[in-house]
Amino acid sequence: MTGNGLTLTIDLARWRRHLDDTAQAGPQIVPVAKGNGYGFGLERLAREAARLDVPAMAVGIASEVARVRDAFGGDIVVLSPWRPDNDDALDLARDERVISTISRAGDLAALASADSTPRVLVEVLTSMRRHGLDPKALAVPDGVRLEGWTIHLPLLEEGRYDEALRLGEAALKARRAPLWLSHLTQSEARALADDLGADVRLRLGTRLWLGDPGALRTTARVLDVHKVRRGERVGYRQRMMPTDGHLVILAGGTANGLGLEAPTAAASLRSRAISLATGSLEAAGLALSPYTIAGRKRWFAEPPHMQSSLVFLPGRTPPPAIGDEVGVQLRLTTATVDDVVEA
Ligand SMILES: *Cc1c(COP(=O)(O)O)cnc(C)c1O
Repeated sequence: MTGNGLTLTIDLARWRRHLDDTAQAGPQIVPVAKGNGYGFGLERLAREAARLDVPAMAVGIASEVARVRDAFGGDIVVLSPWRPDNDDALDLARDERVISTISRAGDLAALASADSTPRVLVEVLTSMRRHGLDPKALAVPDGVRLEGWTIHLPLLEEGRYDEALRLGEAALKARRAPLWLSHLTQSEARALADDLGADVRLRLGTRLWLGDPGALRTTARVLDVHKVRRGERVGYRQRMMPTDGHLVILAGGTANGLGLEAPTAAASLRSRAISLATGSLEAAGLALSPYTIAGRKRWFAEPPHMQSSLVFLPGRTPPPAIGDEVGVQLRLTTATVDDVVEA
């Protein structure tokens, strides 16, 4: 028995098979661990990156380096651009194991005057127009060690490979160094390495950690169950129950990231009109929840609370027992689970 909240259960053998296959397919992958750690937590991802025996992993921001550096012994790339006003980033730039990302020529000059020789990736401006510079115009100063060029492409497939080719070529012309890319497929990245004769590294987050959904299961504990009658009022908002049934109180709420996605009810006026016409629960003002009970997604009786949710189970469907686990669909890039367990 695990905790009383939301649990992510990993089929460890299957998950690791996917991680291993992905790493072996090449080119050299750079596991990305940032933010909520894709639902697993940064520390666990650092341990897996170590197990994969990759030379480098990446974190999102400077303060995340401390969360992975004990478990992972290789190089740590900080993806968000280095800025002179971030004290964390300043200290980290002196760290032999840390590779900073530079997106402005002025920042490169500032780093080059440090008392050590910081390791840097220089970010090339892509059609995303987020961060980066034009490699043509850049002279890399002696005071830094250029570990490569970084190219962060948009998610769109159309034109993506051509852009990678064009920007990669321009960067290599300015200075020969590895190309670190995101959001290419692995076969595109291998093709790019061939086409440019370059050392290509592919950063992977979602497609690595969450790439085999069958290895992962998310469940919520049933905290309480009450019989309710049609017309009876429940919850903070004292909403009226549309029929007889059960109210099931489940672990998981806004603190876990539930209800952050628009609940699917009344997506359009048309669907609202249809549900009114068919007299569905949607018409009664309820929203579909991510919880599955007796084989179906069930409706929230009201918006989720901070750490629990009220779900309505209509009619004679037998309710789960207190203490049972029911399935809950979570988007693991935004959710926070209470427990991660291995199976
Ligand atoms: C977050 C991030 C990634 C990983 O993104 P996913 O979509 O989760 O694979 C790759 N590259 C950069 C620069 C990032 O910031």
